[in-house]
Amino acid sequence: MCLHDHDATPSLPPAALSRRNVIVGAAVLAGVTAGGIASASSASALDEVATSSRTGSVRPSTAPPLVVEGGSVVDPLTGHVVEDGVVVLRDGRVLAVGSRDTTRRAVASVGSAARRIDASGRWVVPGLIDVHVHANALADARALVRAGATSVRSGSSSFYQDVAMRSLPDRVPGLAPRMRAAGIFVSPQLGDSLLADPELAPLAALPGGVTSTADIAHVTRVNVSRGVDVVKTRANPRAGLAEQDPRELVYDREQLSAVVRAASGRPVLCHAYSAEGIDGAVRAGVRSIEHGVFVSDATISEMARRDTHFTPTLAAISGMIGSTDPVLDARGREYTPILMKAVREAHERGVTVVAGTDSFGTDVDPIGSEVRLLVEAGLTPLDALRAATTSAARLLGWSRQAGRLMPGGFGDLLVVDGNPLDDGSAVERVRVVVAQGAVVRQD
Ligand SMILES: [Zn+2]
Repeated sequence: MCLHDHDATPSLPPAALSRRNVIVGAAVLAGVTAGGIASASSASALDEVATSSRTGSVRPSTAPPLVVEGGSVVDPLTGHVVEDGVVVLRDGRVLAVGSRDTTRRAVASVGSAARRIDASGRWVVPGLIDVHVHANALADARALVRAGATSVRSGSSSFYQDVAMRSLPDRVPGLAPRMRAAGIFVSPQLGDSLLADPELAPLAALPGGVTSTADIAHVTRVNVSRGVDVVKTRANPRAGLAEQDPRELVYDREQLSAVVRAASGRPVLCHAYSAEGIDGAVRAGVRSIEHGVFVSDATISEMARRDTHFTPTLAAISGMIGSTDPVLDARGREYTPILMKAVREAHERGVTVVAGTDSFGTDVDPIGSEVRLLVEAGLTPLDALRAATTSAARLLGWSRQAGRLMPGGFGDLLVVDGNPLDDGSAVERVRVVVAQGAVVRQD
């Protein structure tokens, strides 16, 4: 979970570091050519990028057409299921979805060039959306996709890797999830992210860090100038560090309002734990509350009124249970039931709950686990599935592309073992992942 330092420090936690991560991460940071990375990660798709890079004429590659047939195809919007259904993908998009009859022409049009996957006895759902991840390396992107998150929203990256990652799906299908990028964390201590952009250098002289509304707005504007889709900030310290108290206030309503204003219309996601912190963030106009453990009744009402979304990151909070650090273990045990109750009440009172894992690096909690935890918190399996599909797609501005399998939409899907409308854990049992029309996993 969130045992990682989100204070914009680029280093991965030692436990999550593998030799390969170091190589791939370092290569990305150092701007090494894709060919160099490919030799470390042996991905054929990367070889392709490297080859064309040398010529300076990179052409997007596309996956061959794909027909996924025989499964029960689920529409999370309506809850309808097409038995013995067929999904036809071409050029990374959905060409057709429906019964054998209604998809017959589309299947014929892709002809014998199409790859076929037999999904009989299984369920087919749209690619899931994880609205809170931290991906700083290609290995991180790959781990997210393989775990079933075909679209993600970044909860910040160290050096704008998420902004660069956003371009990959259009070039190399299946290499990375579709990305809404946040850039660097707008937080008092930028750590090594001070090196993410020369415009940040003056902030290194601030003894107390980024706390004035002018400096907060400056960091936000640097993010905007780097092309972020969303902005990530905080009201409270981290829960995943024993020495920090997540109920202290880091940024108040006025400071968070400075972020929202400087974001110039881009949605702001705010890490917040305490009742005061959450309330200030909601009234400052953030788009979503991340974690939100101690949200008050009054703030839940305000969230419903403003359509502020709620990303409880149950996998991250409950993931503290069993930590070798007794403070974190106790925190996990205390916070998890409080957060589950908050999720249930917020959902019942009309707040849109969305699924985010707070996965960091290659330490990925499968997004299906968050769906199961939302069911444990009291959502129906369909509503929990929506939290990772239609509701998340709406939050990310992808209602017409993601969250459902629909003609012209993203060619992203999962084949899972079990009926996700009956069983909250079904989407944890992933058998096939298709991202941007490419089969990235088939067990
Ligand atoms: Zn996070």
